[in-house]
Amino acid sequence: MKILVINAGSSSLKYQLFNMESGAVLAKGTCERIGAGGTVTHKKTGAQPFFEERDLPDHGAALARVIWLLTSEQYGVIASVAEIDAVGHRVAHGGEQCKESCIVTEATIKYLETIVPINPLHGPPAIAGMKACIELMPELPQVAVFDTSFYSHIEDFRYVYPIPYEFYEKDRIRRYGFHGTSHRYVSAKVAEVMGKPIEELKIITCHLGNGSSITAVKNGVAIDTSMGFTPQEGIPMGTRSGSFDPTVLTYLMRTKGYTPDEMDDIINRKSGLLGISGLSNDCRNLHDARENGNKRADLALKMMTNGIKKYIGSYIAEMNGVDAIVFTAGIGENQSDIREEVCADMEWLGIELDIDRNRNFTRGIPFNISKEGAKVQTWVIPTDEEYMIALDTKRLAFN
Ligand code: AMP
Repeated sequence: MKILVINAGSSSLKYQLFNMESGAVLAKGTCERIGAGGTVTHKKTGAQPFFEERDLPDHGAALARVIWLLTSEQYGVIASVAEIDAVGHRVAHGGEQCKESCIVTEATIKYLETIVPINPLHGPPAIAGMKACIELMPELPQVAVFDTSFYSHIEDFRYVYPIPYEFYEKDRIRRYGFHGTSHRYVSAKVAEVMGKPIEELKIITCHLGNGSSITAVKNGVAIDTSMGFTPQEGIPMGTRSGSFDPTVLTYLMRTKGYTPDEMDDIINRKSGLLGISGLSNDCRNLHDARENGNKRADLALKMMTNGIKKYIGSYIAEMNGVDAIVFTAGIGENQSDIREEVCADMEWLGIELDIDRNRNFTRGIPFNISKEGAKVQTWVIPTDEEYMIALDTKRLAFN
């Protein structure tokens, strides 16, 4: 069985074709600058990557090129589209109604169109990606996997915001949470490698990348998460501020005359690690700069790691304990210094790292970095959102 996973962004379309018998990726790639020129990077596993500049006016054109590459004699891995069994779509926002992954129907698309106002960046491209796939491969089951659905069991006192209740009732302003597919994958994986049923575990998953979120998973269910109405809430990220006193926004708008769009740009693209350090949004650069005595790089990293620590502490309180902490994504999987800083001085809570294991960990596999005998197990687990989407697609399309 072969499943194509599609992740459509505002000007990009990423894809992976899985062989579900082996779990292997047969080919993957990215179309970028859709609607403003266009580039295609394609890689058949085991072969040289292919790159081209090519006019891609819309997501349909990008998908047509992907299909051509996947089926071409030179770069392809299948003889025809008929070899693909189903398509899985990453959809960032499922609103309040899409509580689980589902087969895409007209009703699904209609509902997703109604929530575009609360999801203006990711909604339209995801819908365009689904429509393009339905048009090009009408006979295939299409499955939507939502980043928000892992959070559909969070209780109201954790998702309602402390503003007039009608903003929730009338405008659907609430915590939705994001990165759910990643948190779902790594929480299931850590239970598997610990050899315990997830229903018996309390897990805190830290997805730390350019965008970062922390989730509390109790007995297999996400009960709280750091991201909110948008991916903006939570800890300081690459270029996003994370949470801070909201009055700062109205003060800046009043005193400096910023428009809502300008303010959005400041808090989404000019803040976080980049804004604090004035140097870079990339943790690797900040790590090097800090080693060379750069105080603002040091400040940015301390603000991020302290933010993570505070979420871990609060989720331990909310769950009345924790069995495992998981680090994943670009920073979580690769930067031992950040993991060390987050977990420092938490012996009282039972969190203790084996510094040697943390620094000399094996990349690409689940790796236990906790000290022998520590009450809480701390793991590095490589995330695989695309494979999770492929698994959901297989389950829904063929069960
Ligand atoms: P992500 O958004 O998950 O791709 O994570 C991106 C961030 O991970 C980058 O901004 C880096 O700060 C950090 N990172 C650290 N080491 C690596 C690495 N070896 N590969 C990729 N990202 C890394």
